[in-house]
Amino acid sequence: MKYISTRGTAPILGFSDVVLAGLAEDGGLYVPQTFQQFTAAEWRSLTALPYPQLAARIMQPFVGDEIPLATLERLAVEAYQPFRHPAIAPLKQLAHNHWLLELFHGQTLAFKDYALQFLGKLFDYLLQQRGEKITVVGATSGDTGSAAIEACRDKSTIEIFILHPHGRVSDVQRRQMTTVLSPNVHNIALKGTFDDCQDIVKALFNDLPFRKQHNLSAINSINWARILAQVVYYASTALALGAPDRPVSFAVPTGNFGNVYAAFVARKMGLPIEHLAIGTNKNDILTRFFASGSMAVTGVSPTLAPSMDIQVSSNFERLLFDAYNGDSAKLSTTMQEFRATGQYTVPPALHNSLTALFSAYRFDDADITRIISTTYQTTGELIDPHTAIGVAAAQHALADGRTTAPIVSLACAHPAKFPDAVQAATGVFPELPLWLSDLHSREERMVVLENSVEAIRGFIAAKDII
Ligand SMILES: *Cc1c(COP(=O)(O)O)cnc(C)c1O
Repeated sequence: MKYISTRGTAPILGFSDVVLAGLAEDGGLYVPQTFQQFTAAEWRSLTALPYPQLAARIMQPFVGDEIPLATLERLAVEAYQPFRHPAIAPLKQLAHNHWLLELFHGQTLAFKDYALQFLGKLFDYLLQQRGEKITVVGATSGDTGSAAIEACRDKSTIEIFILHPHGRVSDVQRRQMTTVLSPNVHNIALKGTFDDCQDIVKALFNDLPFRKQHNLSAINSINWARILAQVVYYASTALALGAPDRPVSFAVPTGNFGNVYAAFVARKMGLPIEHLAIGTNKNDILTRFFASGSMAVTGVSPTLAPSMDIQVSSNFERLLFDAYNGDSAKLSTTMQEFRATGQYTVPPALHNSLTALFSAYRFDDADITRIISTTYQTTGELIDPHTAIGVAAAQHALADGRTTAPIVSLACAHPAKFPDAVQAATGVFPELPLWLSDLHSREERMVVLENSVEAIRGFIAAKDII
């Protein structure tokens, strides 16, 4: 399987090179040249497989002959073995036609574990084969950092440095990072904001000699392997609810558009996915796009669902590339315009074709609180603010007649990750799972550093063994 950049001028690469490269050299995102379709009979033959085996079978056509199926299966078994639910991604029923997919049974209680645990194993395998090492550097406002740290801890091929804004992440989120005492894990509390953290990471990646010397790598959501690993839970869910013989719809709380794009890939692989409802918080660039056909940047403001507080949804470029029928010249022009003016508008026919499959709804903090409360009252389930946005999007899509198939909302984080919002809405304090209940008494390790590129560069250079 070969991969091409959405912008069309980066080298065409195989799976392993794409995984290690992350972003394409021309600034685009790698996508597979073709999408393998499984026939209905093939999907039926996958129905009984346990999650890790299903994962290997779904990924195999996208990996090609670069990794044997047995090895893929071993990596998947190792990646999902520490998950705390035997079904890995279990389903619960919320209403007659509405289901909840729990994606918080990994080590850091958010759906990012499902992709990053696999990616960590994959990186380690590929780097060992090549006799190489990498330095992962990332900025986090919460969920991504802890999931990346858990995925990279104790791996001899990886040193990981995660910057978070000092005093500005929740206690649970900070402790999920700082209580990992593995020698290859370095937590940096920056005396600044999340944007400062991001700017410093960008500056380090733009410092080409430094980047080369330390073999810097990002594990962010534009990595194709993360998308691919996320396709698996859409498939396991669809199969559990009767696919390929019965259609299913999904409702996805959305920030960078990575998670919902994985649903789109599952559909391209032949699963009967009828409708995709997306939910945003008040940072609603996507909701405005689906309403108007115009993508237009505005500011970002903090909400109760911080993992969706984003300005630009980077993975949307992959969907647009598909909608442009793979016309990379046209896509590059659009992206240049976006970069220059902060906005672009797609032709009406293209907009119509997207809104035939997708609907989009926006919910502010008051909506989020109300939905957490009513969900608790009607079903007894405590849901986190991100999940609430998906649940509400599903309810709207059903009410608007956008789907007659059963719709599945993605529970993207455990309620205990956002205890204050959940308690304010329901009066109930969501407890951490038993196996994490000693989180607040575990030893923490982090360094507090000044808000300057030099301070961070110096720290990495001194610690990094590469
Ligand atoms: C990352 C995250 C999201 C947003 O997912 P995208 O793939 O960026 O759309 C939503 N909810 C939670 C809890 C997250 O951690």
